[in-house]
Amino acid sequence: MADITVAGPSNSNQPLLDKTHEGFPETNGTDLVIRSSDGFLFHLHRKYLEATTGSFPGPEFDTHGEVIQLSEPADVLALLFQFVTPARQPHLRGLRFSLLDPLAEAANKYEVFSAMNICENRLMEHTSAYPRQTMMHGLKHDYPLLVARASLSLARAPLLTIIDHLPVHCITPWIEYHEAWKCIFKDVINSCIKDNAHICENCRSSLILWVMDLEATATLATLSSKITQQTPTPSQPRACIAPVDRTSPYSSILTLSRCKQPNEVMILTCRTLQDRIKAVPPFSQFMKGKRQRGT
Ligand SMILES: [Zn+2]
Repeated sequence: MADITVAGPSNSNQPLLDKTHEGFPETNGTDLVIRSSDGFLFHLHRKYLEATTGSFPGPEFDTHGEVIQLSEPADVLALLFQFVTPARQPHLRGLRFSLLDPLAEAANKYEVFSAMNICENRLMEHTSAYPRQTMMHGLKHDYPLLVARASLSLARAPLLTIIDHLPVHCITPWIEYHEAWKCIFKDVINSCIKDNAHICENCRSSLILWVMDLEATATLATLSSKITQQTPTPSQPRACIAPVDRTSPYSSILTLSRCKQPNEVMILTCRTLQDRIKAVPPFSQFMKGKRQRGT
């Protein structure tokens, strides 16, 4: 149940010049008045609020004709209350995040059921630009799909920048999720170090440095793009990078000594990275305690 207060006329914290919001005037049948945090009055029908929401007062809640004070501003309430009137509801397409975010919060706080799903759908479109806010909303109000998508956008962020903002019960799952990602790069670097039969020291060092750079990449989109760009193709195979002194009379012999499989090793490394990244379970599985790390 959301915290709803009835504000008496003598409430000195309220603006002196309340004015009725143009979208919600007093008409025949309106029997409830709500005031926004910035002093706009919304005239509503209790019967609609009772039928479509979980937390707004129904007929049994007597306000003695006084105004109910809410903590949200008028622009948020004006959108929210469109979901509790018998009319076509707003699609919220193109709504800026700075308004969508508090609207979604209010929809869940007051249990305006018809607004909750559409707000979730619209928030899904903002997970790349606002991953932290959308994930926190999903965690707070239990939207696993929103959490899964937003967490992907945060997967490469430094651990401490995330856990400082998480609810306590999410910290251990996030550390495990972060560790699952870390293992990908650790395992690939280990296999580069151990597999010394197919590439020379120059190629191995270069490969390890490249994987370390990938690990430090801030976003999943950039990470995937870097791997794709470096994946050898038949027209652009990976060549050994060992330096050859072209001025030396022995350069042709040195060329023969260069490693033979840098292309195959690079293809295998890129494929392993892509497979392991795809295999990381969504964060929601770590929340459920299913720690199925990629192989
Ligand atoms: Zn080489």
